[in-house]
Amino acid sequence: MTVWSTSNPSGSVTVNVLDIIPGTSVDGPGLRTAIYLAGCSHACPGCQNPGSWDPAGGRSMTVAEIVGIVSENEFPVTLTGGDPLFHPEATGRLVEALRGAGVSSVWLYTGYTFEQILDHQRLLDAVRGVDVIVDGPFRSELRDPSLSFRGSANQRIILLPESLAAGRPCLWQPPTVDF
Ligand code: SF4
Repeated sequence: MTVWSTSNPSGSVTVNVLDIIPGTSVDGPGLRTAIYLAGCSHACPGCQNPGSWDPAGGRSMTVAEIVGIVSENEFPVTLTGGDPLFHPEATGRLVEALRGAGVSSVWLYTGYTFEQILDHQRLLDAVRGVDVIVDGPFRSELRDPSLSFRGSANQRIILLPESLAAGRPCLWQPPTVDF
């Protein structure tokens, strides 16, 4: 597994950010701020954004700078990329800071499966504080445009605290709407 993170001498964690989009509706329910972190080692055939694989892409930002932008509105947050777990220490610090700033909900997209995260303490530490992960690599043979918030049928939308408590994946279900 390839991972990457860096800290400057003052201890402010930095991570390369490709984009921050407030108010998007495609990376989870409702309007959310999507943070696109650079870096991914999964190399899924058919990946729609191979330009996100380079961890040196985008621009280096401190966690404090990112949280400052997110705090300009009250949207919940989705961390995506790339794979935020390419650099688990930085992502863990970012999640911690987002929760500390009062962000109401954090979703995280990763090419790792829930089971792989359970087996790697560094990944597990990074997702504490995350509400929902969308897990697994994109598999082009299972691509299904009808799926909500994911590209292929192997990917799961997993309620993380509930799943960690149960030791098995508990799937998120979209809220039902009464008419
Ligand atoms: S995990 Fe996501 S960003 Fe990484 S190669 Fe797969 S589809 Fe692309």
